[in-house]
Amino acid sequence: MSKQEVKCHYCKNMIEKGVKNCPHCNTVNPSVRVKEVMIWTLGMVVVLYVATRIFA
Ligand SMILES: [Zn+2]
Repeated sequence: MSKQEVKCHYCKNMIEKGVKNCPHCNTVNPSVRVKEVMIWTLGMVVVLYVATRIFA
């Protein structure tokens, strides 16, 4: 299994996926883009809501 590298959302340096702190800028959970996840979740909820309104 090869270790995955992701970009730190804060300083844009490559970091190992799943690390708790970015070794470059010390941001907590640098591989988790909270905003993106929240927007995605919200989008899914809206889509599901609209879908149930249309097909109900
Ligand atoms: Zn960083």
